[in-house]
Amino acid sequence: MITITEIETKSILTKTALPSGDFVANPYVGCPHKCMYCYADFMRRFTNHGEKRGDFLDVKRCDKKINVDMRDKTIILSSVTDAYNPFEQKFKVTRELLKQFVHSQVKIDILTKSALVLRDRDLFRQIPGIRIGISLNTLDDTIRKTLEPYASSVNKRIHGKDAA
Ligand code: SF4
Repeated sequence: MITITEIETKSILTKTALPSGDFVANPYVGCPHKCMYCYADFMRRFTNHGEKRGDFLDVKRCDKKINVDMRDKTIILSSVTDAYNPFEQKFKVTRELLKQFVHSQVKIDILTKSALVLRDRDLFRQIPGIRIGISLNTLDDTIRKTLEPYASSVNKRIHGKDAA
């Protein structure tokens, strides 16, 4: 059972000291993929969540449009959640964020474990600086189910669909 809360936030973008980017964008707090090795579990301490890892998801709502000059800046999408977790299908926070960068000069690096990323191909074609990465730790779907129980299957990540 996952607890989902919609929260208002001033900005989905945050400046980062990570060497690979200028900003990080995390459309959600928490991650329902529940990877066994999740490196982002420490975020519970900073977000007042007492639930277990993967049992909560805060959906960020932000009415304010991005008004910083993003030319030649790099956004990491995302750093402590998966921007294409299954609930993105319903809430579309990632999609709405990306729409703001259509025809812009911003560089966006997406790394995901979800085939849902394919939904936004129409937007990717209009953002020249976007790069999409699919994270894949194993080709064995039995192992994947243990490591990353709620992320997309191996076949879906590679082929966009499960084997017939
Ligand atoms: S996809 Fe990333 S953020 Fe989500 S549970 Fe897995 S390791 Fe953590």
